[in-house]
Amino acid sequence: DFDVLIVGGGPAGASASIYASRKGIRTGIVAERFGGQVMDTMAIENFISVKETEGSKLVAALEEHVKEYDVDVMNLQRAKGLKKNGKMIEVELESGATLSSKTVILATGARWRELGVPGEKEYRGHGVAYCPHCDGPLFKGKPVAVIGGGNSGVEAAIDLAGIVGHVTLIEFNGELRADAVLQKKLFSLDNVEVITGAQTTEITGDDGKVNGLVYIDRGTEQKHTVELNAVFVQIGLLPNTDWLKETIELSKFGEIEIDNHGQTSLPGVFAAGDVTTIPYKQIIMAMGDGARAALGAFDYLIRNDFD
Ligand code: FAD
Repeated sequence: DFDVLIVGGGPAGASASIYASRKGIRTGIVAERFGGQVMDTMAIENFISVKETEGSKLVAALEEHVKEYDVDVMNLQRAKGLKKNGKMIEVELESGATLSSKTVILATGARWRELGVPGEKEYRGHGVAYCPHCDGPLFKGKPVAVIGGGNSGVEAAIDLAGIVGHVTLIEFNGELRADAVLQKKLFSLDNVEVITGAQTTEITGDDGKVNGLVYIDRGTEQKHTVELNAVFVQIGLLPNTDWLKETIELSKFGEIEIDNHGQTSLPGVFAAGDVTTIPYKQIIMAMGDGARAALGAFDYLIRNDFD
């Protein structure tokens, strides 16, 4: 049995495991893929105190740090169910095994919703981007597009307009869905063009880098091309919580609701990182949240009797 069992091996889970095991309590991590989204990241320039690194390097450093401690890492294992059994919490794995722990920290992260058009996968990290905070400065002075006219797309376009040369915002529907105040700000910017009723059909490239996109005007059915250096896809972030729907309170976006100690609606179960309702999904946030959830879990352990 574990004192703290962490589900997820991204920055949130890794951080939680170090904080927990430093308390001298029995700690385990179950992860489908240790490193999480950081494994898919090229350059990282906003992990404070590290001027520049790459995803794979940061994951190697995370792994090395976790290995310094007595953490039972169960990699390539996917959790499929969670339930309370008396005072203990049971996590069921797809392998058929069941793990039992006094507390659980959910750190299963999220994934960006993809457009699913040719060019998107090929140029991911070479002009196809999902995070304006991360990759915006790489395209200083250049033309870029944002796909998606919801709050995140419009926020991204406003943010990028201050850094890049020109922003084309492309929305599939006839109008933007973002809050009125954001739209007002967007339309006040002179280096932004908004195209609605447009279906993006392809991201094109040359020499291994994005050089444009193709969209169809859904009204006239005419094909158009836009020349640019980057495409920021902002059509939603999907938290990895499908397996928790029955047991944990989730927001309407499927994110785990937590209190300010990181505790979920189920006592003894905590959550951290991109999977939660905490905004501004970033590595540095996920690590902080992981530390908080581990300390929250430790607090819970010393306040409850398990005999
Ligand atoms: P994740 O990193 O998503 O980790 C989730 C973990 O849970 C993984 O180990 C996964 O395998 C596991 N998991 C999921 N479901 C299950 C399950 N059912 N059972 C077991 N394990 C499961 N942030 C920055 O700060 N700077 C950047 O430059 C940056 N660039 C990015 C570039 C890209 C392409 C992407 C995709 C993201 C980028 N981010 C960046 C965002 C950053 O990667 C995330 O905010 C961060 O990784 C979130 O950490 P996390 O631990 O919450 O979740």
